[in-house]
Amino acid sequence: MGLTFSIHTLGCRANQADSEQMAQILLSAGFEEVAFGQPADCQVVNTCTVTREADRKSAQMVRRAARLGDQVVVTGCGAAQKGGAWQRVPSTALRLPPEQREQILEKIGAQHCPSGDRLERNWLRRDRARALLRIQEGCDQFCTFCIVPYVRGRARSQSREWVLEQVLALGTQEVVLSGIHLSAWGQERQEDLADLLEFLLPRTPGVRYRLSSVEPDLFPTRIFDLMVGYPERVCPHLHLVLQHASDAVLQRMHRGYDLAHYDALVQEFVTRVPGACLTTDLMVGFPGETHQDFEILMRYVRRTPFARIHVFPYSQRPGTSAARFPDQVAEAVSQQRRDRLLKLADRKRIAFQRQNLGQIREALVESESEQPGWMKATSDNFLPLLLRGGPALRGKRLLCRLQRRRGELIIAVAESGAETGTVSREEGF
Ligand code: SF4
Repeated sequence: MGLTFSIHTLGCRANQADSEQMAQILLSAGFEEVAFGQPADCQVVNTCTVTREADRKSAQMVRRAARLGDQVVVTGCGAAQKGGAWQRVPSTALRLPPEQREQILEKIGAQHCPSGDRLERNWLRRDRARALLRIQEGCDQFCTFCIVPYVRGRARSQSREWVLEQVLALGTQEVVLSGIHLSAWGQERQEDLADLLEFLLPRTPGVRYRLSSVEPDLFPTRIFDLMVGYPERVCPHLHLVLQHASDAVLQRMHRGYDLAHYDALVQEFVTRVPGACLTTDLMVGFPGETHQDFEILMRYVRRTPFARIHVFPYSQRPGTSAARFPDQVAEAVSQQRRDRLLKLADRKRIAFQRQNLGQIREALVESESEQPGWMKATSDNFLPLLLRGGPALRGKRLLCRLQRRRGELIIAVAESGAETGTVSREEGF
C-alpha cells in the first residue's frame, strides 16, 4: 500500500461536502483511504465548533488522530481554535482553514500526485450514487447562538457555471446542493436557488437534485414550482430549519423570520408538492426560553407534518452573544424538554413512514446492507429503504412500492420495468 489517509468528519452537511472534496483530492493524488482509527500517513479531522460539546469532541478526535498518524490536519470550524478544549491539541497538527481545503496537498507538502500538479476536480469517489456539492460558503445572519459567521466569514457563493461544471464532472444520479446558508446562494448577484436549478435542469439531463438544509429567510418559493414541474429531477424534500416556534425566542436568536413566515412556507410546500417530506432542526433550552415558549413549540410540532426532527439542546458557546445572555436555562430543564420533544419527533417520524406505505416512489440505490441480499436506498422524499437485490443495483433509480416498516427502514419492492433516471452528460435538450 502507498501513502494512506483517513478523514473523520464532525458536524453538518457542509463539513461532509468538504470532506468529500478533500478525499477526492487526496485520492486523485495517489493516496489510499483507510478507515479512521487505522494508522495512516495523513489523518484529517474536519471539526465542528457549533456547541461546546462539539468543540470538546473535535479536540478529542484531533488528539486521537495524533496518536495514530504521522501527520494530522485540522480543518473545519475548529481550524482557528486554540484555547479551551483545544489547549491539549499537539502543536504539530497542521491547521487548514476550510476555505483553503483545496490546497490540502500543498499544505501537507505532498509531491505524490501521479499526474503532476493537475488534479481532477470530480470530488467524488466514483462508486457513490449521490454527491454532496458545496455551492455556498459563510453566513451574514449572525444568529446569537452561532459561531459560524465568525469562523467561516461572509456569505459568498459559487457561480452557476462553476456548479454546472462540477455536476457534469460528478456524473452521479443525485446531487445534493449544500452550503452554510444555502438559501443565500447567489444573493450577491441578485440570483437565487430557483434560478440555479432552472439553469442546471436542462443542462444536466437525468440528474436528480436535492437541497441540503435551508434557512427560511431568503428561501425562494419558486423552488416549489420546480418540485411540481420536475418531480423526477427535484426531490420533494425540504429540510427547513425552524429552531423554535416562539416568536420571542426566534427574535432573541436573531433568526430573521417569525413563525408566520415559516408556517406560510410549510403550508405552501405540503399543499402543493405531492409526497412532500418536511424535516427540520429545533433547539431547546435557549436562554430565556420559558415554559410557555416550550409549549408553543410542542403545539406547533404536533400540528405540523414533520417527517424528521433533529433536536439540539442549547449549549453555551464562548464568543457568541447568547453566551452572555441572562436567564440561561438549567441543564436539567433543557434535557427534560429535549426528551419530551424527541418522543414527539419519533411519533411524527413513524406517522410519516406509515402515511407513505403503499405509495410508489422513486428510490436511489446506494449501498449494500449488512444483511446479505438486500440493498440500502433512499426515496425521493427521503425515506430510508431496504430493497431486495445485489450490488448490480447500486447507483440505479427505481420505481418502488413501499411495503412495510422494519424499525427505522421501509421494505420496498421494485415495480416491473422500474428503472427511471439515466444521467447523460450531453448539454441541452
Ligand atoms: S443562519 Fe444562523 S445558525 Fe445558520 S450558519 Fe448562519 S448564523 Fe449560524
